[in-house]
Amino acid sequence: QAVFQSDVGALLEQVGTGKESLSFMKRRVRRMAAQWASAARRLDDRLRSHWREQNRILVHVGFLTEESGDVFSPKVLKGGPLGEMVQWADILTALHVLGHNLKISFSLKELHGFLGVPPGRGSCPLTGPLPFDLIYTDYHGLQQMKQHMGLSLRKHKCHIRVIDTFGTEPAYNHEEYAILHGYRTNWGYWNLHGQQYMTMFPHTPDNSFMGFVAEELNETEKQNIQRNKVNNMAVVYGKEASMWKGKEKFLTILHRYMEIHGTVYYETQRPPEVPAFVKNHGLLPQQELQQLLRKAKLFIGLGFPYEGPAPLEAIANGCIFLQPKFNPPHSSLNHDFFRGKPTSRKVSSQHPYAEQYIGRPHVITVDFNNSEEFEATIREIMRINVEPFLPYEYTCEGMLERVHAYIQNQDFCSPEAPFPPVNSSWLSSPFVLLPNSSILTWASNASSYTSWPPLSALRLLASLEGESCVEACQGAELICEPALYRFINIKEAFSALELQCDGVESQVNHLLPAFSAEHAECGLQQDPLLFSCAGSSAKYQRLCPCRDYRAGQVALCRDCL
Ligand code: UDP
Repeated sequence: QAVFQSDVGALLEQVGTGKESLSFMKRRVRRMAAQWASAARRLDDRLRSHWREQNRILVHVGFLTEESGDVFSPKVLKGGPLGEMVQWADILTALHVLGHNLKISFSLKELHGFLGVPPGRGSCPLTGPLPFDLIYTDYHGLQQMKQHMGLSLRKHKCHIRVIDTFGTEPAYNHEEYAILHGYRTNWGYWNLHGQQYMTMFPHTPDNSFMGFVAEELNETEKQNIQRNKVNNMAVVYGKEASMWKGKEKFLTILHRYMEIHGTVYYETQRPPEVPAFVKNHGLLPQQELQQLLRKAKLFIGLGFPYEGPAPLEAIANGCIFLQPKFNPPHSSLNHDFFRGKPTSRKVSSQHPYAEQYIGRPHVITVDFNNSEEFEATIREIMRINVEPFLPYEYTCEGMLERVHAYIQNQDFCSPEAPFPPVNSSWLSSPFVLLPNSSILTWASNASSYTSWPPLSALRLLASLEGESCVEACQGAELICEPALYRFINIKEAFSALELQCDGVESQVNHLLPAFSAEHAECGLQQDPLLFSCAGSSAKYQRLCPCRDYRAGQVALCRDCL
């Protein structure tokens, strides 16, 4: 049984030394230890009646290995990306605090040692059983394991979880499909279950949302912060000088109203990209950045970096986050940063999570090229007051709850029970129409069928033509749940939605199951690896398995714990 562990000493020892990235993560673990400990106590109280199996877990942080080139570590103190390190530090802490048996590797040598693969022998299959229940790694780590475990990787891959910041959609992950249909990327195709990829934000429900944490304030701290806020103080989101290029115009407008602070890295001279009126503090340690955010009224985005942790930290410290809207949205089709990434996601602003899941008054998203609108927004910001806010899913307790639920319930190794069980009593009338909506729910006697999330959470919907299941479920205040696709990939689902099929055909196409009105054709999905919430076509009304979710914890349905 796993026992909650609030002392992080053993974890810190395992992380080791010798690199700035490791020091950054250790400082973070130390600084947040008390928050994790009190979150663990609360969750422990709530889960008292649950048996929690202790898992043997290997965490192999591929991007920080020398063998992958490790471009991150040398930039930790120079304005380079820190989001990934924030997330890995939090994943390690969550797994440790949950009481699992953890091994951590930051090099190929350590990886070999833990897997029992003899070093220096190239592709050497692991012959015995895998000595771990779960392996968390990243795309670099996957590649390394492929090179060094050989064919045995295929055998063990159901135990792998890939930490993947921006997400991977099923069409890109499926080898044969990606090659045939133009979804090839440099990240490769690993034929994993979509939910084995774990993201930084809940980008696409096709992947699991792993997340990270931000500091939480108690009531007294919240009151103090609000008392000490400086109404005309803004901090700019951008620690690297290049992010400031060409942004002088709107910063000049902002400067008419507010004193502007920056935390831009510089070596000896002030970077020319940063306007003279900006008070630059240089790159700050995380803790000092928090202090600055506690005083500031506004945190303003420059359009890059996309989807980082800093806006959540700012909002948690009582800032308003003002960010640019992207019209048209940025995606792998029109922006270099996303080009070649295994996702078709359309990024509507610098931080779509902040825009869609938090919103006003904490987050304001406007067109920065429209000077009048921008200036009016600044005036509005000067007038309003907001309280510090942190979504539950980004608190330590929220992250522990989610990771616990994944570890106990997600299973990509057992063969799925054949479905549907033909002739079972409930299949003859599987759906019940909810009053006043077109959402269908399964008959209650179907709920005994074991799945996670449970079948009782399933709500069947048909999307509009041209709409994805991500959007269709969102429109009904639900979320698409790919794990439930297998239950709706049956011809009865079409009739339950009153879609009349002239023919029913099974095909390999990531938009199926779907209805094509033009030929009154119903298409079923032939390959379960292609079940995908993302993706749309003007030709199809897609069938969507939606589910409910907990307030502040979109990864979990109400009956998921
Ligand atoms: N950060 C910091 N000092 C600074 C600016 C940022 O320590 O002067 C930290 C910040 O607390 C956040 C992390 O950098 O947790 C990552 O921030 P960002 O949102 O910029 O994402 P990135 O692009 O680095 O992944």
